[in-house]
Amino acid sequence: MSKYILGVDLGGTSVKMAVVSPDGEIMKKWSIGTNIINDGEAIVPDIIDSIRDHLELFQMDINDFYGIGMGSPGVVDADNKTVIGAYNLNWTKLQRIGEQMKDAFNIPFYIDNDANVAALGEQWKGAGNGASNVVMMTLGTGIGGGVINEGKIVRGQGGGGEIGHLQITTDMDVQCTCGKTDCLEILASGKGIINLARYFSDRYEGNSELKRQIDDGENVGAEDIFNEAQNNDFFAGEIVDQWAKFMALACSHIANVVNPKYIILGGGVSAAGQYLIDLINPYFKQYVFPQIFESTSLRLADIGNDAGVIGAARLVEEAFS
Ligand code: ZN
Repeated sequence: MSKYILGVDLGGTSVKMAVVSPDGEIMKKWSIGTNIINDGEAIVPDIIDSIRDHLELFQMDINDFYGIGMGSPGVVDADNKTVIGAYNLNWTKLQRIGEQMKDAFNIPFYIDNDANVAALGEQWKGAGNGASNVVMMTLGTGIGGGVINEGKIVRGQGGGGEIGHLQITTDMDVQCTCGKTDCLEILASGKGIINLARYFSDRYEGNSELKRQIDDGENVGAEDIFNEAQNNDFFAGEIVDQWAKFMALACSHIANVVNPKYIILGGGVSAAGQYLIDLINPYFKQYVFPQIFESTSLRLADIGNDAGVIGAARLVEEAFS
C-alpha cells in the first residue's frame, strides 16, 4: 500500500485536517473547532487526539503516513518547528509544536506560516497549475504573502514573503500593526480598504451613499465598497481605483523581483472575483517592467479552503525533494 500524508490547517476558528495522497488528492477530510481558552494550550493536544480518533475510524495506522505538515498563523520557525505571536490563537508564548507532535506520533513533521502553506497549496494543485514560480497574496483581515520559487517556499532569514508589509506610499501616514506606516495590508486588505475609505471620506465633498455610511460609523465591509463602486457610486469608485493602484504597485514590485508565472489573489476579499483582476491589470501593466508584463499574470485562487491542507501536505513532500 502506498503511503499518505496528513495535512493540518490551523486557523483561529477551526482546524482543518486531511489525508492527502502523494500526488495531492484529498482522500479524507474533517475539521474540529479551535479551543483558544487558557492561552490556547488545548489546541495541539486536541489536534493529536483528533488525528488518533480519525486514523482509527479510517482503519489506518500512523505508519501509513510519510509525515504530517501543518500551516499555522503567527511567527513560525520552520527549522525549530515552533510558533510564537499567533494572537488569534492566544499563543503569545513560544509553542514547541514539533516536540509535541514528535512525542505523539514520531513521524516527520513540518510546519510553516499559513500564508506560505496556502501559497504552496495553490501552486501545487490550484491556480498555480504546478508552475514552479508562483506568488500568492491572501487578502483577508490582513494580507498574507507566500513566494514559491523553484517549487519551494522562499523563507529567506525567516521573514521572506511578507508582502503585506510592502510600503506602497510615503504620504498617507496610516499606522500599521507592524509599527510602520502605509503598508499594503493596512490600506488594501479587507480591513485596509475601510481605512482607505475613511481617509478619503475626510477629503471628499460630494454626495455618496458610501460616504454617508462611513461618516455615520456604520458597519461597512470591503464587499460593500466593491458593490457600491459597481453601482456607480463615484466616491466608492475613487476608493476602489486607489485600492487597485496600490495592489498593482505591490504586484509590480513583486513581479520585477521574482518574475513569477502567476501572482495569485486569494482570501475573503478575492470573492469579488475577476472584477478585481480587471481593476488591477491596467495599472499593473503601467507600473511593471514591460517584458515582465508579458510573462507574469494575475489570477484568482482556485482551491479556496482546501489550499491549507493541500499545501501543508506539500510541505512534507517539499522537505523530501
Ligand atoms: Zn506593516
